Amino acid sequence: MAGQNKQAAKASRVRLFVDMPIAAGVELPLESAQSHYLGTVMRLAPGDTLFIFNGRDGEWRAAIATLRRGAGTLLPEAQEKPQRAANGPWLLFAPVKSSRTELLIEKASELGAAELWPVMTQYCQSKRVKPERYRAHAIEAAEQCGRLEVPEIQPLAALSAVLEAWPADRRLMFCDESGGPPALEALAAAPPAPWAILVGPEGGFSTAERAEIKSRPYCVPVSLGPRTLRAETAAVAALSLWQAVLGDLRSGN
Ligand code: SAH
Repeated sequence: MAGQNKQAAKASRVRLFVDMPIAAGVELPLESAQSHYLGTVMRLAPGDTLFIFNGRDGEWRAAIATLRRGAGTLLPEAQEKPQRAANGPWLLFAPVKSSRTELLIEKASELGAAELWPVMTQYCQSKRVKPERYRAHAIEAAEQCGRLEVPEIQPLAALSAVLEAWPADRRLMFCDESGGPPALEALAAAPPAPWAILVGPEGGFSTAERAEIKSRPYCVPVSLGPRTLRAETAAVAALSLWQAVLGDLRSGN
């Protein structure tokens, strides 16, 4: 800025998701909100560095090449981390009140859910989903927690249709509030496979739904303990248990 002394370049820990291929020396345009965030919120300037990722090319160090109000460009300098395969489970959830659903998306993204599937169930309170907002929350969580990819958000679909078209090899950890085998034991006993987790709405599952889910050969019913958890708490508990038994909580960082 005019009249200010030039500051030494800052190496910031800011991480940004960019939905474009990343290659050394190939400038990337910033979205307006991103340039506002870098310039106004984080007080960064051209020459300062940050980290970027796109879900495909790993994490890169990039320098801010230009930064103006509402616009700017980044210059990728070097890859800092290679891309790793995302092998967390999918999370199927019934949309609840917006603020709670957004919390669920944020926490599921932090806990490594690979895909987020909003599903309509019989006692669903909310038939409205906001895919753009969901994605914004997933991106923000991925940026903040150091993930190398943003969980994909699937379009809203009826649970029965999703179960009907289910990939045969993928197991479904069915969080059943009416009780079931302890989750730790059920997960530890299952043979290796890709996984998904299913959490119901505040109203729970109907008797017919429960029977339909449990009749599927890929279903692994589990209890999350003696207390009835809210849907977003159940999602956090289920993902944590899954990651502890089968996922990346086994290996530290
Ligand atoms: N209204 C229901 C509770 C629904 S809780 C009732 O009173 O029974 C929302 C969802 O969280 C449930 O559908 C289930 O998927 C999950 N959940 C909550 N507590 C759970 C528990 N103790 N064990 C397994 N799943 C649970």
